[in-house]
Amino acid sequence: MNQIWNREYETMDRDELRGLQSKRLQMSLRWAVANVPFYRDSWEKAGLKPQDIRSLDDLEKVPFTTKDAFKESYPYGLFAVPLERVVRVHSSTGTTSRPTVVGYTRGDLNTWAELCARGVTAGGARPHDVAQVAFGYGMQTGAFGLHAGLERIGAMVIPASTGNTRRQLTIMRDYGTTVLVSTPSYALYIAEAAADMGFSFDDLELRVGLFGAEPWTNAVREELERRMGISATDNYGLSEVMGPGMSGECYLKDGLHVNEDHFIVEVVDPETGEKLPEGKEGELVFTSLTKEAVPVLRYRTGDLASVSYRPCACGRTFARHTKVYARTDDMMIVRGVNVFPSQVEEVLMAVEGVEPHFQILIDRRGALDEMVVQIEVEPSFFPDAMRRLVEFERQIEDRLQEDLGVRARVKLVEPKSLPRHTGKARRVIDKR
Ligand SMILES: [Zn+2]
Repeated sequence: MNQIWNREYETMDRDELRGLQSKRLQMSLRWAVANVPFYRDSWEKAGLKPQDIRSLDDLEKVPFTTKDAFKESYPYGLFAVPLERVVRVHSSTGTTSRPTVVGYTRGDLNTWAELCARGVTAGGARPHDVAQVAFGYGMQTGAFGLHAGLERIGAMVIPASTGNTRRQLTIMRDYGTTVLVSTPSYALYIAEAAADMGFSFDDLELRVGLFGAEPWTNAVREELERRMGISATDNYGLSEVMGPGMSGECYLKDGLHVNEDHFIVEVVDPETGEKLPEGKEGELVFTSLTKEAVPVLRYRTGDLASVSYRPCACGRTFARHTKVYARTDDMMIVRGVNVFPSQVEEVLMAVEGVEPHFQILIDRRGALDEMVVQIEVEPSFFPDAMRRLVEFERQIEDRLQEDLGVRARVKLVEPKSLPRHTGKARRVIDKR
């Protein structure tokens, strides 16, 4: 199972790695401040000059960059190179406001493919694989990034894109797909559709799932591995920083290795911005070391995790961050209690008879918040007596209360009555 794409860097001695990071950091800071007015201004305001940052420890002095900087600089304000040097742009969906736009030089695309090649290799993809990419090919980074990484290792790529789930399964069977690339929610949907269509994963060649682009729990991993008969790993990336390939799990599935020769990862307190020590959970912050078109300095991801520098048995020396279960943006405050959708998922997945499809509705009833969790149950459940349903609802309500510290109303719904997602899942509807 264990194979390393780039031994020279991925297993580099940590002292040597810190030396390389320090050298590259100097260059990246100078590059950003010299070429991007946003950084020049924010450094001036902070009374900081690139020569003030002498070591990696000085990085703490550098002001944070947030998503707002991208929105305010829409579309090209954060670019450090003239547009004629940019060969590709991508952007976020921008569902609620202006999208964040990022650009890549030829060199950036080369680095991106290299880092995705490392990630897909760590997740178990090999040159002989047939990889079906079921991420949307569009403005977002997921499909193009992993596509390039898979091609670089020599795998055969099927750019299936999202949607048309029956066709996905037909392709999977006819083309002999061995690697599936998608969001975990879409993979669950595909697994369900397969059962409906009478496809058995025992008859398919599929053996590896490379999943990412949304928070998901280990319970969902186990479910996907069991249903599809695969090994499923998590990979992580944000378009503002680069896209997928920033970090990914190795076959040990115990944290995501950060490509530290190209990024510095920090964990900060989401409230105070103070840097947190190894092992403490907080918000992930990334600084790019080699990006040309859109360098990012101390980008606040909004994703919660902790970082470990302990050596990994796979041989990689790169730091690992824990699986991202939650984004600061996803946090719901229900009657004063902080609740993350992933906590709800964790509880539900532990209950026998519950399907991995649920939706959380939050509303206000008078002065009180009301949280309703709609859950699909196994088809065999419904013919049974009403009494059993009510009992079952109470039982889940109790478990949720125990874990979340807040009472939710549970409503069991018919199998397949909740929306399915071909991209990122939308778990919460907040009507307040
Ligand atoms: Zn490892």
